Amino acid sequence: MSKITIRPVCRLCRREGEKLYLKGLRCESQKCPMISKNYPPGQHGQNVKRAKSEFLRQLREKQKAKRIFGLNEKQFQNYYRKAVKVVGVTGHEFLKLLEKRLDNVMYRAGFASSRPQARQIVNHGLCFVNAKKVRAPNHMVKVNDKFEIKDKAKKFKLFEDTKNKKNMAPKWLKVDLAALSGEVIAEPGKDDFEKSIQISLIIEYYSK
Ligand code: SF4
Repeated sequence: MSKITIRPVCRLCRREGEKLYLKGLRCESQKCPMISKNYPPGQHGQNVKRAKSEFLRQLREKQKAKRIFGLNEKQFQNYYRKAVKVVGVTGHEFLKLLEKRLDNVMYRAGFASSRPQARQIVNHGLCFVNAKKVRAPNHMVKVNDKFEIKDKAKKFKLFEDTKNKKNMAPKWLKVDLAALSGEVIAEPGKDDFEKSIQISLIIEYYSK
């Protein structure tokens, strides 16, 4: 059997003990190290017992969510602070803010196979919002915003398969995969949030 190469980013999944889907198609394949090495990385990884106390569960959930969205502590905390100020359920508002980031929209629309790849697409200036180039992955989309991959880039190999993919976009986004374009038609709702995140644990962590 061929040896599976472990990518640095895969260490994050192994650390959290859960698939975070950071490597696109590889995550769905037998090459995913979480299949054969589902224990923390490092020399003593196999002997490490996973955290169980309430505080550590909260901490790990927060770390996991940060890693899923590719954010550092300061960026993540800022979203929490913004969510607290909004009238509504803080957890939902928090997740809504994360969903509306432009890099996440590129991923949800199906233009990228992972959030890290979606971020690169935005960073490299391949994404237009309302006909203007936007290079900030943290750009917040709004209802009625139109987004698309820039014309020249639509021919890139990166998007070759995208056009033939099944449209799996959430209902708050109207996406035309063949045209690599879309529109924000609603606010993301409860059913659209990242399912693997237990937001209540994160809120408890920050509200101490
Ligand atoms: Fe690596 Fe993806 Fe598997 Fe995570 S889910 S370990 S990123 S291949």
